[in-house]
Amino acid sequence: MEDCIFCKIAEGKIPSDKIYENDNFFSISDANQQIEGHSLVISKKHFETSLDLPTTLGAELLDCIKKTVLKLVDKYEWEGFNIVNNNFECAGQIVKHVHFHILPRKKGGKTPRVY
Ligand code: 5GP
Ligand code: ZN
Repeated sequence: MEDCIFCKIAEGKIPSDKIYENDNFFSISDANQQIEGHSLVISKKHFETSLDLPTTLGAELLDCIKKTVLKLVDKYEWEGFNIVNNNFECAGQIVKHVHFHILPRKKGGKTPRVY
């Protein structure tokens, strides 16, 4: 998709440091960190929302989410995390290419805002 920032990152037109990747998903740090370690799991192909994602990619999506969390958990000494997925503008989706926010949490820590 032309003019889609996440397609450009997925295609390597914009360089990025990948935390983890498999055949259909990759993860990177969010450019606007709502909380230390805030990361995004992004599909390599352009799908607008979760409703457009083929069900057959579910296992790979979960793989990318879990591996991303496990890679970062030691670094940031997380005690927990949120997975947030905004779909459509009214729900806070700004980038119209499906992605999942991973938000590290600690007892007494800052409450992130991502929608
Ligand atoms: P949304 O509101 O669509 O769920 O969130 C989009 C997220 O993408 C935002 O948290 C924003 O900071 C992040 N983002 C937008 N452009 C870029 C970019 O070029 N690189 C990275 N790493 N994150 C981006
Ligand atoms: Zn895209």
